Amino acid sequence: MRGIALVFFILAPVFIMTSTGGIKENFNNEIENNTEQEWKIHDMNRPLPPVVKPGVAGIPGQPPSDALVLFNGKDLSQWCDSKGKPARWKVEQDYMEVVKKTGSIRTKQNFGDCQLHIEWAAPLPVVGKGQGRGNSGVFLMDTYELQVLDSYNNRTYADGMAASVYGQFPPLVNACHPPGEWQAFDIIFHRPHFDKNGNLIHPVRMIVLHNGVLVQDNVELLGPTAWKKHVPYKPHPEKMPLSLQDHGNPVRYRNIWIRELK
Ligand code: MG
Repeated sequence: MRGIALVFFILAPVFIMTSTGGIKENFNNEIENNTEQEWKIHDMNRPLPPVVKPGVAGIPGQPPSDALVLFNGKDLSQWCDSKGKPARWKVEQDYMEVVKKTGSIRTKQNFGDCQLHIEWAAPLPVVGKGQGRGNSGVFLMDTYELQVLDSYNNRTYADGMAASVYGQFPPLVNACHPPGEWQAFDIIFHRPHFDKNGNLIHPVRMIVLHNGVLVQDNVELLGPTAWKKHVPYKPHPEKMPLSLQDHGNPVRYRNIWIRELK
């Protein structure tokens, strides 16, 4: 019995190290090319992804080192109104707030494929109902709206609630925090592609987490989002501004950052 145990203790580390690649990493000459991929499996010559320092440990949603911060709580220098004039939403403490009738705001810079983090809070006290309560919106490429709405105990149509792709895809679940509390959208956005003649090749694809919960699972958008109608795709530039909607409700935003996907 003691002999068997001894053999096990001698052989086990060898097995573990080999199976995890701890000792042996250079497989280049031993493994055949996978015809599906450009690189051999475990190819040591395959370029490594760049190192990115994540946001502050323990605080989800902080910008990683390669993010462009679009709003850090201080000013609207990255933003303008729809006519290119200075944005007139108010900035207080660490957030910006929609000022009714000043219009939607958009980034000065244009974006295509991206990862976007944005935090928002529906207004307190609660005013209005349905689409009239805490309505705003995150418009990717100024065209495709991820709905911002106070959907906490507030009935409206499913494809218009918070985290819906407006008029197209309800969220998979309602992950809303109560009004007044901060909540986050994390969005992976892939722009549409058009051929030379303006025909659609690939639609927009979106993955969305709402407060860390998956709510849009790689949905393919039917076209630009709109109220009460379906709008077909129209060719547009590869990069366009990100915009935030003034729908007349004092919705707040903070900690907005973006990573362009190459
Ligand atoms: Mg909206």
